Amino acid sequence: MESNGLMKGPSGWIENLIESFITESPENSLGNRMNDKAWAKPLIGFSSGNDPLYQFYKSDIGDFYWTPFEIFLKTFPSSKVRADQLTVLSWVLPQTEATKEDNRRQTKYPSERWARARVQGEEVNNKLRKIVVSSLHEKGFRAVAPMLSLLWEQRTSERYGLASNWSERHAAYTSGLGTFGLCDGLITPRGKAMRCGSVVADIKISPTRRPYSDHHAYCLYFSKGICGKCIQRCPAGAISRAGHDKTKCRNYLHNVVEEFVKSNYGFKSYGCGLCQTGVPCESKIPTEQDLE
Ligand code: SF4
Ligand code: SF4
Repeated sequence: MESNGLMKGPSGWIENLIESFITESPENSLGNRMNDKAWAKPLIGFSSGNDPLYQFYKSDIGDFYWTPFEIFLKTFPSSKVRADQLTVLSWVLPQTEATKEDNRRQTKYPSERWARARVQGEEVNNKLRKIVVSSLHEKGFRAVAPMLSLLWEQRTSERYGLASNWSERHAAYTSGLGTFGLCDGLITPRGKAMRCGSVVADIKISPTRRPYSDHHAYCLYFSKGICGKCIQRCPAGAISRAGHDKTKCRNYLHNVVEEFVKSNYGFKSYGCGLCQTGVPCESKIPTEQDLE
């Protein structure tokens, strides 16, 4: 036991489980001819089910937004668990060097690897969500991956427009893994070219320390008034000094990118990610020197 009374133990095997799946499993694949890995070594963080930030998201984004306690109770209605007995397990799956290199060269459409990472890579992320849930069940803990819940849905937030009742990036922010950039992506110590995932479980794990107090701390535009490189990278004009226009972005993904990927790469995907590559926050927390 640690001095704060929380068990440190469980985080170790969960971290090993996530890391070994990504680094060793043949299922971590883009499914292309070269059988490239979909994701590089992950980052993992934890937050308490009663972290006040989760309640704040609900009041800020909309009443439809779930706290960890709500999605847990919807999944296990007979549970007598309290919010403080829950932990949100969150992970970041960084894009591989090969995928980032390909996409950096693109100016209008995604590279094939990037487009694959959005769909085949997300399937890998879904497998990881299922493995984490089933491994917790085997050890006697109840767990749910909110993104895989049949109740997960997209909604409209009065304040932010397109939204959903659970956000992986907000779970990652709460779990100490990164802060938001001008383009809405989460800038993590491995950068913004990544996808993330989470599971809520009735397991007690010490929360990861958040090394920031501002939700935009790592973005050079918000912290120093410089950069804005993601504005120039967006072929849809969806990023400006006012932030990310989700409707413009979505229209581009579904009306332009989807068509391009189908005719040129022969599969269905709508991943773009130009704002996540070829920018100073692509692979790290950026500094002023990265702009030189
Ligand atoms: S490219 Fe620059 S302005 Fe855009 S999110 Fe990254 S650090 Fe912020
Ligand atoms: S994903 Fe593509 S269209 Fe959407 S904001 Fe980023 S660069 Fe623009």
